[in-house]
Amino acid sequence: MLHIHPVPAFRDNYIWVIHNQSNAVVVDPGDATPVIEFLTHNQLQLKAILITHHHSDHTGGVAQLCRWREVPVYGPATETIATVTHPLCETGQINIPELPLYLTVLDIPGHTLGHIAYYRREPFNMVFCGDTLFSCGCGRIFEGTPQQMYQSLQKLAQLPDDTLIYCTHEYTLGNVAFARTIDPDNNDLMDFERKAQQLRQQNTPTIPTALKQERAINPFLRCEQSAIIASAQQHAGKPLPDPIAVFTVLREWKNRF
Ligand SMILES: [Zn+2]
Repeated sequence: MLHIHPVPAFRDNYIWVIHNQSNAVVVDPGDATPVIEFLTHNQLQLKAILITHHHSDHTGGVAQLCRWREVPVYGPATETIATVTHPLCETGQINIPELPLYLTVLDIPGHTLGHIAYYRREPFNMVFCGDTLFSCGCGRIFEGTPQQMYQSLQKLAQLPDDTLIYCTHEYTLGNVAFARTIDPDNNDLMDFERKAQQLRQQNTPTIPTALKQERAINPFLRCEQSAIIASAQQHAGKPLPDPIAVFTVLREWKNRF
């Protein structure tokens, strides 16, 4: 039985620890200290580190963790990350028999150009997608184009309905506020907002979220819906020819929201 535990870091990051109560894998450790504390307190053996992209809030703790325990470090092949020992891209696979954990890799450029996600199939679908798909939102486009980001989100949206989305930031309530502006009559979104507010009042993470839920509430996965198109066109002050144009307007709007 696998457990997936969020170790909070910085202001709003989650460092995901995947473990079976004996062995553990850590995703995007931007800070080593809370990870070492969690692993030590729970008597977990670190077996590997997974990195989704090069930003320091995802990689800053890797060197210290590797000095503490020498483990393989998986990360994107097309980004320069000094601590990565096992570079990966779309066809890559990871097998960690001690958990056991088998993951495949998806290329999801946009936030950064080499950004990858780690996907686990049956019996429970889950994806560790870094700063690409957030609950009710998506990451900023720092290196790629809006088209790349849109296509990466579409790739994630093709995963099975029950796929749990493990992203790296607690941005949900801010994202919901933006989504309510874009999609004000969406009842699923209003229900979700109530649930998310309750969770945050109890200081409970809103992550993971399920893909089926995201398809119903996340405006960045709904660029073909008439309500979203209408809001984006009104904001842009012109007709928008396709979902990528709608996505581009939404992403730029959110940057200044
Ligand atoms: Zn990032």
